[in-house]
Amino acid sequence: MKIILLGAPFSGKGTLARNIVNDFDVVQISTGDLFRENIKNQTEIGLLAKSYMDKGNLVPDEVTVSMLKERISKPDCKNGFILDGFPRTIPQAEALKTITDVDAVILLDVPLDEIKRRCVGRRTCSKCGEIYNTSTYDKSTCAKCGSPLFQRDDDNLETITARLEVYEKTTAPLINFYADKLFAVKGMGTPEETYKQAKDFLRRL
Ligand code: ADP
Ligand code: ZN
Repeated sequence: MKIILLGAPFSGKGTLARNIVNDFDVVQISTGDLFRENIKNQTEIGLLAKSYMDKGNLVPDEVTVSMLKERISKPDCKNGFILDGFPRTIPQAEALKTITDVDAVILLDVPLDEIKRRCVGRRTCSKCGEIYNTSTYDKSTCAKCGSPLFQRDDDNLETITARLEVYEKTTAPLINFYADKLFAVKGMGTPEETYKQAKDFLRRL
């Protein structure tokens, strides 16, 4: 199964993808995570990506597409994957078409007010990647593995505004692009409520 997850920053794509991976035979591919890994390892891609990410802008399509293409060609993607954060532009979607077909596109629908509320409170586990929000979880270590939580460099009010603008202008048009494969999930409730809608949909595929 090959799935695309569409949604604004902070809509909960990462959390939903992790839930899907637990139940279905797919791997999660997050271009944001791939870039952050490259930054950590100080690769050429990482150095380039950081300058865009810190401003809340998109990394250029060429770089993103070639990184994604390489990731998708790895053996663990054979049974399927869930793309979290890719494609984010029409040219990326066009490029993906020439690489592979997708079975479904899930849109995570969350009102802007809720997105803004989530933005400042997001924390991520430094080891297992579990995602929390300070409004519902106030500890500084991960409930799953005990490792310290951290706040992403780009999770601040200045970059979030830019990221939301980029989403509206550049990524939201993909909703029309994928109209025939799109399934919208309401993402305002708990992670479990959100996942249930997606699970029921994927089971019917
Ligand atoms: P979020 O969904 O919360 O915005 P991500 O981790 O998906 O966070 O992405 C973080 C940053 O990584 C983006 O703001 C952008 O700079 C870069 N990035 C991730 N995916 C892409 C992509 N498909 N195309 C271009 N840039 C990307
Ligand atoms: Zn953890």
